Amino acid sequence: MRVLAMLDGTLTDPDAPHIRVDDLGLMRGDGIFETILAVDGRPRELGAHLDRLARSAAMTDIPLPDRAAWERAVQAVLDNWPADGEMALKLVCTRGVDGGDGTPTGFALGMEIGERVRAQRRDGISVVTLERGIDPGLADRAPWLLLGAKTISYAINMAAQREAERRGADDVVFTASDGSLLEGPTSTLVVASGRTLRTPPAQLGILPGTTQAALFRGAERAGWATKVEPLRVPDLRAADGVFLVSSVRRITRVHTLDGERLTDSADLHAELVGYYESEY
Ligand code: PLP
Repeated sequence: MRVLAMLDGTLTDPDAPHIRVDDLGLMRGDGIFETILAVDGRPRELGAHLDRLARSAAMTDIPLPDRAAWERAVQAVLDNWPADGEMALKLVCTRGVDGGDGTPTGFALGMEIGERVRAQRRDGISVVTLERGIDPGLADRAPWLLLGAKTISYAINMAAQREAERRGADDVVFTASDGSLLEGPTSTLVVASGRTLRTPPAQLGILPGTTQAALFRGAERAGWATKVEPLRVPDLRAADGVFLVSSVRRITRVHTLDGERLTDSADLHAELVGYYESEY
């Protein structure tokens, strides 16, 4: 089940071809995107996602169509989604066609959320740490590397997930060259110790997560402390709970790290899910 809307709010057939072969998104991976969770027709963190799309556009110099156009397309998909329950709503914007007039290509696509993700939310996941090949100062030193922009060039992220599967794990936590922890290929790392939640700083060259922000808000309301600070592998082993969070996976607990079982965090997971859901 998929619903596709263009930026003028018109619906169009998701099975028909729409992207030209000379689109720079296709030819060079030159574009940006967002994935938003909608539940029972209501998008979560839409404002934060549109802000982040604008930030990615600024970082990549893509002339982003105005916010009203994205809101129109989002509404068209939501209005025409034929079921209750969840949807992953993808907003994509590329630099447009090679040698064209500079008009970006943009659309909003609603998709179902697969059984694999649902099972991982329920049962937890095993992860491996993999090197990302960046050092903590690189994002500031070399902005042209677009670290922390949500570009559609996700081939490395997907390759890392395949490497995890080859190693018998479900997912990845990337590490920087100094050993500090970064993020998952499609998720933010959150660590719980006592009544404190921690996540690595976006300045390391990672994406500022909308789900992590919502979880932190909910947990703070419940009296928890939250910290944004560098983390290392021993912090994960010492923690009461380790989680990968994202719009689509929501709050997923990590039960195994590099082949070793972590502290059982099933109860803590349920508590954090409650804080996150209390935001909606
Ligand atoms: N980090 C990366 C690299 C991602 O691709 C994503 C989401 O897809 C996230 C973090 C989590 O972001 P959010 O919670 O806003 O979905």
